[in-house]
Amino acid sequence: MTPAVCLQNVHKVYNNSAVVDDLSLSIEPGEIFGLLGPNGAGKSTTIRMLTTLTQPTQGDIVVAGYDVVRQPIGVKRAIGVVLQQTSVDIDLTVWENMEFHGRMHHIPNPRRQQEISRWLDYVELVDRREDLVKTLSGGMKRRLQIARALLHQPEILFLDEPTVGLDPQTRRRMWEIIKGLNKQGMTLLITTHYMEEVEYLCDRIGIMDGGKLIEIGTLEELRDRHGRGLVMKQMDDRWDYTFFPTLEEAETHMLKQPDHTGLMVRPSNLEDIFVELTGRSLD
Ligand code: ADP
Repeated sequence: MTPAVCLQNVHKVYNNSAVVDDLSLSIEPGEIFGLLGPNGAGKSTTIRMLTTLTQPTQGDIVVAGYDVVRQPIGVKRAIGVVLQQTSVDIDLTVWENMEFHGRMHHIPNPRRQQEISRWLDYVELVDRREDLVKTLSGGMKRRLQIARALLHQPEILFLDEPTVGLDPQTRRRMWEIIKGLNKQGMTLLITTHYMEEVEYLCDRIGIMDGGKLIEIGTLEELRDRHGRGLVMKQMDDRWDYTFFPTLEEAETHMLKQPDHTGLMVRPSNLEDIFVELTGRSLD
């Protein structure tokens, strides 16, 4: 199967420094792929290259079968993009934002109006269609951005921190929207800081640090590789973590210790692995 997204030995250099450093990665059609990494890891730069907003300094990137440097129009037709900063026009109405995007993509009427209604309905904004965007809540603006990104029926959707700043209920609703799109066959690449978001949504996870991909796999593969059991030991004001292949081995290790004070055993999770790999927490 042709990958939906394929990066081969990709570099991006700013001011003589590689902010993306020899990145190779492929995402299969129908996958939800989560890109994780501390601030400055190179996630946004990677998304910007995948979505043709900036060119790689070196290496090959193919998205939906199109080369991002040689066939950017093909890429743009095949993808939807929701970036972190609000990119909808707050001085236009909900419908005007959708209409403008539909015209930019040359979607003819009556299909344009059908698609506008369909996606506004999907993100539950139909009853706000005549309202100015500046009167919408943060969650509604994010939903409008998603509806707009879907208007031209992209195969791949890029979501940069889709739920940052949203309340837990709105975040859950957003997760259902994302899952629903994936069930309809869409490939999604998501960057996020939220571990539970990755655990709930993503089929596979890539962890970036310092411009490099330092880990990739399903959550279960990552737990197998780093250890499923964890012994936590309280050291003054911090915790010391030791991974064990299984929870049972972690328990056996703890029971062997003469003094159990300040010791705790539990299954490992993505955040533990992230901290172990990057030395930083997700938030
Ligand atoms: P992340 O999204 O993982 O936080 P970014 O891709 O935004 O990381 O940034 C990676 C590094 O690249 C950072 O050190 C950032 O300062 C640098 N960087 C990003 N864009 C530019 C640019 N246009 N010019 C110079 N440096 C940049």
